[in-house]
Amino acid sequence: MALVVTGASLGGERVGLRAEHGLIAAVGPEVQREPGDEVIDGSGMALVPGLVNAHTHAAMTLFRGYADDLPLMEWLTKHIWPVEKRMDDDDVYWGTRLACVEMIRTGTTCFWDMYWHAHAAARAVEDAGMRAVTAAPLIDDSDDAKSARACADAEASLERISEAGGERARAGFAPHAIYSVSERSLRWVARRAAELAVPVQIHLSETEDEVEQCTAQHGERPAVYLDRVGLLGPRTVLAHGTWLDRSELELIADRGATVVTNPVANLKLAVGRVFPYREARAAGVELGLGTDGPGSNNSLDLLADAKTFALLQKNEARDPAAVTAAETLAIATGQRSGLLGGRGLGPGAPADFLLVRTGDPELAVGELDAGLIYAASGAIVDTTVVGGRVLMRGGVVDGADEVVARARERASRLGLGGRAF
Ligand SMILES: [Zn+2]
Repeated sequence: MALVVTGASLGGERVGLRAEHGLIAAVGPEVQREPGDEVIDGSGMALVPGLVNAHTHAAMTLFRGYADDLPLMEWLTKHIWPVEKRMDDDDVYWGTRLACVEMIRTGTTCFWDMYWHAHAAARAVEDAGMRAVTAAPLIDDSDDAKSARACADAEASLERISEAGGERARAGFAPHAIYSVSERSLRWVARRAAELAVPVQIHLSETEDEVEQCTAQHGERPAVYLDRVGLLGPRTVLAHGTWLDRSELELIADRGATVVTNPVANLKLAVGRVFPYREARAAGVELGLGTDGPGSNNSLDLLADAKTFALLQKNEARDPAAVTAAETLAIATGQRSGLLGGRGLGPGAPADFLLVRTGDPELAVGELDAGLIYAASGAIVDTTVVGGRVLMRGGVVDGADEVVARARERASRLGLGGRAF
C-alpha cells in the first residue's frame, strides 16, 4: 500500500508526496491520492527530511539524571561503567525503545548507536520502526593480551546484531576510543570492517588529554595514528573531533571519513574547545551532528542541538554568517556526509520525512529553515515517517506509555532512580 501526503508545503509550493515500497515515488504539485492509498492530510504543515542523529548511546536514557556534573573520566569509570556491567539485554532493549520514542517525537528518523548488548538495541530499533547503525563498544584497556577476546566478542556481536536486526538496524564495529583500545584491536577492526564492508564508529579527539596522551605514546596526533592503523576511511564515523588540528582535518578529508560534532555533550562535559567547524568545512571534511548519549547531554532533541551548534560556531568565529540555518539543517539531516546518507526529499530517496506544524507560532512567520533551527524545537514535529511507515501522527507515538513504564522499571532495577510516577 502506498502512503500519500496531500497539501503540504515544500519550498514555498503546495505539494503531494507519494511513498511506495519504502521510497519516495513522487513529490510535487501533481501528486494526488488514489483509491487504496493511506493518506495524510498535510495542510498547515511543511515537509522536512528526517533528522540523522549521527552519534549516540541510546539506551543511556536509563542514566538520565544519574551522576550529572562530573568530569568525563570520573563520570565514566566511577559511575557509568560499574552500572553498565550489571545491564542485561532487556535493560538495553527498553532503554533504547525509550530513546526511540523521544527521537521519533523530535523528528529523528535514523541514528548511529554505540552500546552494550547491541543486538538488543537492534531489536528495539526494528520494533520501533526507525533506522540505525548499531554497534557494541570494543574496549580492551589498550592491553594486547585482552585484544583477542575483545575482537572475538566484537565479531560475535556483529553476527548477533545481523540476526536481531534487519533492513533497518544495520551492524557495525565500535572501537570505543584510541585510549581504551589497543593498536592490535584497532588494526583488527580496520581489516574486518574492510572485509565485511561495515561501518565503524569511534570517539576521537574529544579532550585535550587524549591528544597529549596519544602524542606522548605514539609520537603523533590522534587522526594520524588512526590513519596509520588503517581506520581512517570512508566507512568511519569519528565522534567529536573537538581537538583536531588543521593538518588532521585535511587528512580526514582526504581519507573520506565523517566527523560528527556533539556540541551539547561537549559543553556539558566542558571539554574546553569548540569543534573547528570552519577549518573542517574549508578542508572538505564530511560532517554530521549528534547528541551523544542521553547520560551526557541529556536530551535527544537534535533540533535543539542544531541551534546550539550554529550559535557556538557563530560566536567562536565572531561572525554571524559562519554557518547558516540552511547549512545547519543540511548537516542535521545527514546531507553533508555520504556515509550518513541523507538524501533530501527527491524521488528514489528513502521515504524518511517529517511534517512540521507551520501554523504554530514558532513557524507561523518567516523563512522555514531559520524557524526550525533558531525558533522551534523537536516539539514542532507533528508526523514522523520512516521507510513509508508512519511512526507518529498528530504528535502521538503508539505504545509510548508502555515503553515509558517498562524503561522506568529497568532504571529502578539498576538502582538508577527510575520514578514510579
Ligand atoms: Zn559518545
